Amino acid sequence: MKPQPPARAGEPETKASSNFLRGIIERDLEAGTYDGRPFGGSPGDAAHHAGGPADPARIRTRFPPEPNGYLHVGHAKSICLNFGLARDYGGICHLRFDDTNPEKEEQEYVDAIREAVLWLGFDWNANGTSHLYYASDYFDFMYRAAEALVTAGLAYVDEQSADDMRANRGDFNTPGKDSPFRSRTPEENLARFREMRDGLHADGAMVLRAKIDMASPNINLRDPALYRIRRATHHNTGDNWCIYPMYTYAHPIEDALERITHSICTLEFEDQRPFYDWLLEHLADLGLLARPLPRQYEFGRLNLSYVVTSKRKLRQLVTDGHVSGWDDPRMPTLFGMRRRGYTPAAIRAMADGSGASKTNIWLDYAVLDQCLRADLEGLAPRAMAVLDPVPLVLTNWAQVFGSDAHVEPCHAPAHPQRPELGERHFGLARAVWIERDDFEEVPPKGFFRLFPGNKVRLKYGMVVECTGCEKDADGRVTRVLATVVPDTKSGTPGADAVKVKGTITWVGAQDAIPATVNLYDRLYKDAQPEAGGRDHLEALNPGSKQVVRAFLEPSLAHVPKEARFQFERHGYFIADRIDHEAATPVFNRITTLKDSWAA
Ligand code: ATP
Ligand code: MG
Repeated sequence: MKPQPPARAGEPETKASSNFLRGIIERDLEAGTYDGRPFGGSPGDAAHHAGGPADPARIRTRFPPEPNGYLHVGHAKSICLNFGLARDYGGICHLRFDDTNPEKEEQEYVDAIREAVLWLGFDWNANGTSHLYYASDYFDFMYRAAEALVTAGLAYVDEQSADDMRANRGDFNTPGKDSPFRSRTPEENLARFREMRDGLHADGAMVLRAKIDMASPNINLRDPALYRIRRATHHNTGDNWCIYPMYTYAHPIEDALERITHSICTLEFEDQRPFYDWLLEHLADLGLLARPLPRQYEFGRLNLSYVVTSKRKLRQLVTDGHVSGWDDPRMPTLFGMRRRGYTPAAIRAMADGSGASKTNIWLDYAVLDQCLRADLEGLAPRAMAVLDPVPLVLTNWAQVFGSDAHVEPCHAPAHPQRPELGERHFGLARAVWIERDDFEEVPPKGFFRLFPGNKVRLKYGMVVECTGCEKDADGRVTRVLATVVPDTKSGTPGADAVKVKGTITWVGAQDAIPATVNLYDRLYKDAQPEAGGRDHLEALNPGSKQVVRAFLEPSLAHVPKEARFQFERHGYFIADRIDHEAATPVFNRITTLKDSWAA
């Protein structure tokens, strides 16, 4: 797949490739399916919306995370899809916290999710109105709707044990059996349901179920549970409730109250769609919900090679100490990707480029890296950095410049294609740092860098001729020796008179900035870490993080956190957003210049 070039801030996003969801929305817009429907200005029931003006949004979509963990790259796909469709078709996308489950939800996650959506470049504010909602704000309505279903004979309280309920549900080949409680009158059911609400029964003693069809070939229609008893303190509603709605009951209602038009979810909800429609149709018939009703559409999940996105497994990586936290730069969480240096535009380009289809897709991680390089190439100023330093000493320096202390000023463009970014300045002196592997005492075939007798150019500096090296007792090179060739300074007349085959990067010892550089690589060594049901921990890449002490050119002395650069020859790097302002600056490798994993 060819990635789209990422859009810059302020530029229109490249139109995402067409997909079946766009087709559905375009047909709805053409047919006027949602034209003129009233919107009460906030979520609400049929009466609330009936009094409102025509909805200024042509469509409404939503991103509905459960605030029980950090968002990951799979969620980014859903965010880009839902917010992107709303943007492209004159609609509005809601951010809705699906917080109907009292057990696992926390404010910390709510805050983190809001921050991640904004960072990705999307906003739930439209025309001066915030469209950030909490499903738990709808508990009163959900309860009222449940009573209406009971009264209409469409729901009943079931007191079977959980085991009996499971056994009587049947399976794919066997129809289910009616519960002995199924034939109670609406009055009996209403009284029981109110007792549930009032805390007169123990957790798990009974549930409210829809009365549909125990013989339905779709098991989701065999009287699904709507409410359960659960004494738990909810982060929003405290101890107001001891009964909580089931997800499959709550979600369609949330969509309808918010007047969502296109409720887009992943494929595993396909079998739930008949119940989604059953519930909303009945509640609309009972006058509780406004028509036209939302419709559910399913698309395939995005999986990325070399990545695991299950929240449970990501949590395991954190709690078992395989990574430093949820924002470890190797984590596929949006916080981890941000710290790693991934740009929002690159993530959007990857998400948009992967389209939407009816099957789950595996995207090659290299596609994300290509989107990233395409974005960073134009964005990131250049700098020289020596990551595996060894000193190079220019032994004739005093003869050429009159003093060993002389520093020859050099400069380079901050970006080769963007003169408006200005120039970097640094000095060439008698001692410079070079990469250890830019010197070979005995050069292999095709090696054009430093070896005794060979000349190379110190990039943006001068030509030097290698004369040898010094080694320690173990034979390890401690210093490389060379002489500087006079009158070869880059940018001066005649500098090219001396021809060289190699150019190397370097940093002057006198103005080098010592830094910690984290060389991050893929967290897993296998493209499909869980292939064949294997434990993902077995596929961890032991070389996913390497820490080096590096020397950087002086233009990097005071750069802000999260500033991104191309270290020439090495790749793209970002000033760490957490540790950068420590005693020595910390940079993270975002990605190399080329894909080193390509087969
Ligand atoms: P996880 O399996 O990691 O716990 P989830 O689906 O339970 O994820 P939610 O908070 O319920 O997490 O997800 C919010 C939205 O993001 C849902 O609409 C879900 O379908 C979507 N989503 C989650 N993972 C992916 C994915 N890999 N590709 C596309 N959409 C996804
Ligand atoms: Mg979920």
